[in-house]
Amino acid sequence: MNLLQLRKMMLFVAEKMVESEPILTALDQIVGDGDHGIGMKRGFATLIILLQDDQFKPNDIGDFFNQVGTKLMTSMGGASGAIFGTLFRAGGKSGGKSIIGEAEFNTSTLATLLNQGWQAVYQRGNAKPGDKTMVDALAAAATCANELSQLPLKKALPKIAQSAMDGAEQTKQMIAVFGRAKNLGERAIGHMDPGAVSMAYILKYMNEYIQMS
Ligand code: ADP
Ligand code: MG
Repeated sequence: MNLLQLRKMMLFVAEKMVESEPILTALDQIVGDGDHGIGMKRGFATLIILLQDDQFKPNDIGDFFNQVGTKLMTSMGGASGAIFGTLFRAGGKSGGKSIIGEAEFNTSTLATLLNQGWQAVYQRGNAKPGDKTMVDALAAAATCANELSQLPLKKALPKIAQSAMDGAEQTKQMIAVFGRAKNLGERAIGHMDPGAVSMAYILKYMNEYIQMS
């Protein structure tokens, strides 16, 4: 897909993330401090304004995600503002494997975005798979995207989104190492990490859009 189509897809994703606020709030009320849904809603509502703004003219796929990440980071606040902002911004950074200069968004560029994002999120917050964070969904999605990078998005995204959801489901069994969920210890067992669910939802809604278009 080209930049215009990517922009429309992310607008759909942003609208769906705003609608998902109650379920994300409910999850963070169990394992965190209850503000995750509100933070995501604020960030993605601000993103909707950016994506509808005629003045927003990204140069390429990398620049698009860089600006998306900056918008999320500056509007959301909290741990997740930094984390989700870092994820999207990483894809637009130059150096190493990069999507700077790409005009096409496909499974290969998605794989680069997710893997660069995973690396950057780890550098920022030190969370590894198994620590009960959004990294559990992100790492699963990034690994799956690497394996399917040659397939068209319509074929690959259902599996990538499912991997992320499986990763989020697995956080039920984990004890948190970061944030307020850490204080809950074993009491957080049986409940999914809200950030992992947000990560899985972003890919789920990307997939829903791709299957409709
Ligand atoms: P806060 O923890 O400031 O209340 P949120 O409630 O918005 O922020 O976000 C919490 C989510 O952030 C968690 O569910 C988790 O997925 C994610 N998170 C927290 N710390 C880290 C970290 N170090 N690395 C990756 N993700 C993290
Ligand atoms: Mg919170």
